[in-house]
Amino acid sequence: MSKLIMLGTGCGFNDFFYNTCFVINHNKKNFLIDAGGGQKIYYRLQDKNIELTEIHDIFISHAHTDHILGLIWLLKRMSRMFGKIYKGKLNIYCNQFVCDAIKSIYHYTIAKSLHEKLEKNINFIIVKPGDKLNIIGLDFSFFDSFDEGNNLTCFETKIDGKSLVFLGDATCNKKNYDILKNKDYVMHEAFCLDKDADIYKPYEKHHSTVKSTCESLKDFNIKNLILYHTIDDYEDSRKEKYINEAKMCNYTGNVIVPDDMEEVVI
Ligand SMILES: [Zn+2]
Repeated sequence: MSKLIMLGTGCGFNDFFYNTCFVINHNKKNFLIDAGGGQKIYYRLQDKNIELTEIHDIFISHAHTDHILGLIWLLKRMSRMFGKIYKGKLNIYCNQFVCDAIKSIYHYTIAKSLHEKLEKNINFIIVKPGDKLNIIGLDFSFFDSFDEGNNLTCFETKIDGKSLVFLGDATCNKKNYDILKNKDYVMHEAFCLDKDADIYKPYEKHHSTVKSTCESLKDFNIKNLILYHTIDDYEDSRKEKYINEAKMCNYTGNVIVPDDMEEVVI
């Protein structure tokens, strides 16, 4: 059984929902996708009984605070484990822009005495659009989000025969529509409800509403649409309200709005 362990499902300004990040758990191996913006990532992993020594693969989609800064906290903790209880290397997959950002942030924020340990034990694997890599036994293909200026990398993979596309936290660009067709799982952001668009202005931030996402993707025969990276409103009723809005615009595929720490079995 494989699953997505949603450690966070919120956008970058949140207190209630942690910033969007998750683990792909397959064959007892864990692949962390983004890290959120703070130290909470460590406690979220702990609550799921995932030890840092069990994480050897991390993908960072882009360099925004709510995806990259949690990684710096993990590296700080891992730097004390490398060569001791942490066996082997840590692979970080990202584009060159993100790699440069990670290195400069840890250079300025983590004690100099630990830099050598980080350099020795981290393997940066630069991914470019079109690259294909096998990670935790799964085949991943990476592609560009075409999201002006944000240097966001997306991917598609197949898990236990089911196709999955991860689009990061930007509205899917029309150039990528063909990738989404007939997929089993598509992970797309939905910043807020349509009625709240005037307050939160999702379109200015390359984000969408539930309605605009569902209307754009409704003809693609996506079996399961996972919506995430939302504002904090409607803490306890977000799932119901977002799924209702999807139904109101006649979206016929299954819509999943996971809560933080919810697991989506693939
Ligand atoms: Zn974000």
